[in-house]
Amino acid sequence: MRPFEYELAADAERAISAVAARPDATFLAGGTNLVDHMKLGVASPDLLVDVSRLLPATIDERDGGGLRIGAGVRNADLAADMRVRTRYPALAQALLAGASGQLRNLATTGGNLLQRTRCAYFRDPSMACNKREPGAGCAALDGYTRYHAVLGASEHCVATNPSDMAVALLAFDAVVQVSGPDGAREVPLADLHRLPGDAPERDTTLRHGELITAVDLPPLPIAARSAYRKVRDRASYAFALVSVAAAVALDDEAIADVRIAFGGVAHAPWRASRAEAALRGGPATEAAFRAAADAELADARPLRDNAFKVPMATGALVATLRELTGAGAGGDAR
Ligand SMILES: Cc1cc2nc3c(=O)[nH]c(=O)nc-3n(C[C@H](O)[C@H](O)[C@H](O)COP(=O)(O)OP(=O)(O)OC[C@H]3O[C@@H](n4cnc5c(N)ncnc54)[C@H](O)[C@@H]3O)c2cc1C
Repeated sequence: MRPFEYELAADAERAISAVAARPDATFLAGGTNLVDHMKLGVASPDLLVDVSRLLPATIDERDGGGLRIGAGVRNADLAADMRVRTRYPALAQALLAGASGQLRNLATTGGNLLQRTRCAYFRDPSMACNKREPGAGCAALDGYTRYHAVLGASEHCVATNPSDMAVALLAFDAVVQVSGPDGAREVPLADLHRLPGDAPERDTTLRHGELITAVDLPPLPIAARSAYRKVRDRASYAFALVSVAAAVALDDEAIADVRIAFGGVAHAPWRASRAEAALRGGPATEAAFRAAADAELADARPLRDNAFKVPMATGALVATLRELTGAGAGGDAR
């Protein structure tokens, strides 16, 4: 492991200037992702600026019924918050579907959003990886691709984003509060994570030295009727093959409004805008749910080992919408 310096920053301003001043410096929060990467040789910062004690760790009410989640709020605390559980249940479910109890006690909201891909070729420095080393090539392309992307990938990278929490936050139109060397700005969650294109080394649109300070959940009555479904190889302690966060508002038996995001299918959490458009104003029937999934997945480009993800995503969406609407198999909303 490369020797590194450690600094416990006194405040956000100092943390930002310390990281911004050195290209190989980085923030340390819970450390559950970053320290793993340092041990594996995937990350080799020369300075760790510890922000775990200075980031806000409270969940505060916002005007109109929204919530501001401090970037230092631990995943376990966010999942346990009664306001989250009742007003945004898919978010609590997504968090509880992730990692383990011990990890959730350490992992922070900001760190969870910025965790890096679990692609086995990225995590193995002996393998070619454009994300780890731009221009090196992508060993996954000829490798084992069960866990890889079916949407939005490029010839340079087929990795997926592993965060469960981010999928629910995307469905709820969360907004990320960021402070950096040039001041503060807001980044809609939909604009935070990138598709790989020809620069897979950049997971997000954040600039070096920018610190996530909070995540805002807008007031969203539809979110009270939401659910998160995660399909994985083991019942716990496994990353998603496919996941779905969805929220539905019914008007009689029609779908008045709907929010859907997928996880496990792309380099970024995937907002299913086409599926939403197909469903809005239509009947809450299994046939409609299936047609919406087909619309969203029409551009899917499976790799050698992951064609199953397309029907799996369809099945996960249909099952989640049935759960939320009460629509029976093949029948209407009850
Ligand atoms: C065995 C195992 C299983 C797991 N299973 C799952 C799972 O099923 N689902 C899931 O979603 N996750 C899973 N995880 C990942 C886990 O959720 C993340 O490791 C965790 O959320 C990262 O948070 P952290 O605070 O520890 O981040 P850190 O490791 O401290 O940081 C991660 C990255 O974010 C940056 N960073 C941290 N905070 C900020 C900030 N405020 N502003 C700017 N940059 C910041 C760091 O510089 C670093 O690059 C698993 C992890 C492990 C080890």
